Amino acid sequence: MQQYRPMQNVTILWLPGHINIPQITKIDEMAKHATSLQDIYHTELTSNEIIGKVDDWIWKEWVKDWKAKVTCRYQDVFELKREGYRGNNMVRIKETIVNRIRLLQTRLNSDLFKIGLHENGLCEKCQVKQDIFHFIYECSDSVILRDNLRYASDDQLSLMGLNEITTSKKLCNVLIDYILANKLDI
Ligand SMILES: [Zn+2]
Repeated sequence: MQQYRPMQNVTILWLPGHINIPQITKIDEMAKHATSLQDIYHTELTSNEIIGKVDDWIWKEWVKDWKAKVTCRYQDVFELKREGYRGNNMVRIKETIVNRIRLLQTRLNSDLFKIGLHENGLCEKCQVKQDIFHFIYECSDSVILRDNLRYASDDQLSLMGLNEITTSKKLCNVLIDYILANKLDI
C-alpha cells in the first residue's frame, strides 16, 4: 500500500466474516480474488471519483430492483428520482399537504382507515373508497377542483397522473388552493 499510495491514509477494520451478511461475503470474495491477480491495475481515479462510480453502480442496481419488484401503489405512481423530491418552494402548510399527498398518507377516509381512525374508509358522499385518487378524479364533491385542474392543464387532466399534478407548480397550487379554500383536512 505504501509503495503504491505513499500519501494515502489507510484504515484497517475487522469485519466479522461468514455470518451470512451478503455484502461482507462479497467483500471477502473480492479481497481473496484480488490477492491472486497477476497484474495490479493502476488507476488514476481519485477516491472521490471511485466513490462516484460505486454510487452510480448502486443507483443502477436499485433502479433495476425498483422496476422489477412493484410491491405497492407508490411504486406504480411515482418514478424513482435520484435527487429526491424537492417540492416547489411553497409555504410550509402547502408543502405539508403536498407531501402527504405524494406519500399517499392523507387524512382522507381510506388513509385514516389504514391506521384505524375511520370505520370503513369510504367517501360519505359516494360510498366508495375515499383516497386521493377518488378525491381528485372521481368524487362528486370535487367537481370544481376538476374544472380548475382541467383549465390549468389545458384540458389535459385525464392524461395526468398524480405524479404530474404534484410536480407541476401550477397544478399543485390549484390543488392546494382548492383544499385550503374549502378548509378540507387532507
Ligand atoms: Zn366521493
